[in-house]
This record gives sequence, C-alpha cells and structure tokens, in this order.
Amino acid sequence: MDIIYRYEPSAALIPRQAMDAQLAIRELEEGHQRFRAIVMHVQKELVGNARPGSIIIPSDPLSLGFALIASAPVRQAPYALILGCSDARVPIERIFDQPPNELFVIRVAGNVLGTECLGSIDYAVQNLKGSLRLLVVLGHSGCGAVSAAVDSYLSPQDYPEIAFTHALRSLVDRIQIAVRGAAKALDRVHGPSLKRNPGYRDALVETAVYLNAALTAFDVRKEIEAIEGHMVQTVYAVFDLVDQRVHALPDRKNAVAEATFGQVPSSTEEFTALGDRLATAVQSKGILGPVSSEFVPQ
Ligand SMILES: [Zn+2]
Repeated sequence: MDIIYRYEPSAALIPRQAMDAQLAIRELEEGHQRFRAIVMHVQKELVGNARPGSIIIPSDPLSLGFALIASAPVRQAPYALILGCSDARVPIERIFDQPPNELFVIRVAGNVLGTECLGSIDYAVQNLKGSLRLLVVLGHSGCGAVSAAVDSYLSPQDYPEIAFTHALRSLVDRIQIAVRGAAKALDRVHGPSLKRNPGYRDALVETAVYLNAALTAFDVRKEIEAIEGHMVQTVYAVFDLVDQRVHALPDRKNAVAEATFGQVPSSTEEFTALGDRLATAVQSKGILGPVSSEFVPQ
C-alpha cells in the first residue's frame, strides 16, 4: 500500500487556521479519520481482504510547514496544544495526521502536570493567542504510569519498589487522585465484590486513564483561566491502543465516531457523574468478565 502526501506547488494555498475551538476539534477529527483510513487499509491488506492500493493526501507548501520565503522562518501558529503521554505508541502528530506548525505538543509520562509542563502551556497560551484555540489532554489505554499508580494503590506494601526514586514518586503520586476516584466509581457502579473479579486491575487502570486525563484537563483549565484574552477551550480524550481510536469514554464497542473529545467537569459532582459513566462504559472493553454480586473468584 502507498501512502502519498502529494505536494502540488501550483495548488492554492489553504491557510489551516481554525477560527474557534469547534473548528479546531473538526480539524483533529478529520486528521484522525485520515489516520484511521490508513490503519484500516493496512489491517485489511495484511489479512488479505483488500488489494494493495494507495491513499493520497493532497499537500500544499503551507500544510507541509515550509517557509514560503527562503530568508524568513515560518511564524509559529498552532491551532491546538496537546498534552499527551511519552509512550512511543502514541505519536500525536501521526494519530491526528497533522503537519508541522499545527500542533503544540507536550509529552510527559502519564500526561501529568509538572511545573515545567505548566510553563510550556503558559508560554503557548500567552504567546500564541493569534492561532491557539484548543487544548487537549490526551491519555492512552494501558498507560504504564497509570498502571504503576494503580499497582501502588492495590499493593501499598510494594510502593517502595514501584516508586523508588523521587522522580518516579512524583509521577505515581500525581496520578493517585485519579486512581482513587476511579476505584470509588467502580465500587459505586458495580459494588465492592468487583474487586474479586480477575479483570478488576485492568478495569481500574482503564477507568483511571480517562479520569486522569479529565482531572489534568481540569487543572490546566484552572491554570490558564487567569491569562487575559486567550480563546482556548480545554477538553480531554484517550487514545485506545487496541482499536486505534480517540475516545471520550471507554466504549470500544459502542463508539459511533472515529474520534470523540470529552467536556471537562467543573465540580466534584460532575466528576462523580463522569466517574460513573466511565465505570459503566469500561464494561464494553470486555476485560471485566461476568459482573455480578454473586461472582465467585476461581
Ligand atoms: Zn502512558
């Protein structure tokens, strides 16, 4: 299969500026659809259900991020800032099929909010007001940092080994609130017997991944509130490593759109409601097995 970014120097230049957050989300959705088309075609070719073909993505000098005048650099003008995890399986520009100069990307394990990370966000929101319209906190399924936080929650006696260094502790500790919130939500929705389900740890990791992204987005939004004149809307989402799609809820089986972005809760009540929706939706991932109060562990 050929993936062709067809550069046409004579094509009209189309500024990809998103005027508001909704248009910025649409740009990301369309880019994610292009990425998904590539993924699905490759998967079909590999199992022999599709003949080798090609996907052509038209590109002009602007969409390639090239300088139009040889003596001057391109002005930095991303329409979205994405805070994602460092995980090598989550290449953000590729997931959203975005060329240079469209995304301001910060990647840190567990997409947690440290001081330097906040500094980068502050810089972008302060200095890129002309173009920046959207901020996405993007978690991903099976996140190692969230898994470490879950393991230290489930086995507190192993905490010294899991988070031996100061640096690792700062990661694991920052995610604890999401893990505890996810554990409470699973308990509320499915009852305390769920802890004996063999899929409980995985369900807790997945629920915590979503809650961690939403909580980080909540914190980011609070931080940038004070910046005068910005036009940035904050949302959260999670990239699912299995179905290679972007979700607002862990609803792998029921998701209708290729990419959905979640509204960030504004109060503890809204976080509780989100936790309940996440704990309900995580069942669709098929990791919990039978869920019942009569469940008997093997
Ligand atoms: Zn991760």
